[in-house]
Amino acid sequence: MPECASCGRSIDPRWRYCPWCATPQRIKLVEFFRPHPLIESEAGKGLRVSRYLGAADQERQVRFSVWREVSSSSAEAESAVSIDEAEAERLARFLVHPAAPVENEDEDEATLANG
Ligand SMILES: [Zn+2]
Repeated sequence: MPECASCGRSIDPRWRYCPWCATPQRIKLVEFFRPHPLIESEAGKGLRVSRYLGAADQERQVRFSVWREVSSSSAEAESAVSIDEAEAERLARFLVHPAAPVENEDEDEATLANG
């Protein structure tokens, strides 16, 4: 049973708020990103990035999902993947400093190729 990061009392992992002190236990931040305007085949698609800031390690993740517009009022997720905080930090470094070497790059490519 996880504990509230604020008061330390036991809480159910599904609860968004601690019932004892009302501290949020699972915070989700969401941003949408438009596709490249000059790549016509991707018009109507978008990238949703959801960042979960929970108290437990498995709750803290960044989830990427590719959405496709299916009508003027609805969209559906085509694919999604979640990465942990260490990978999210590596991605952030890659985006901010693309020319800098990114550690573990070769190891990850080998893992993906073999797995
Ligand atoms: Zn609490």
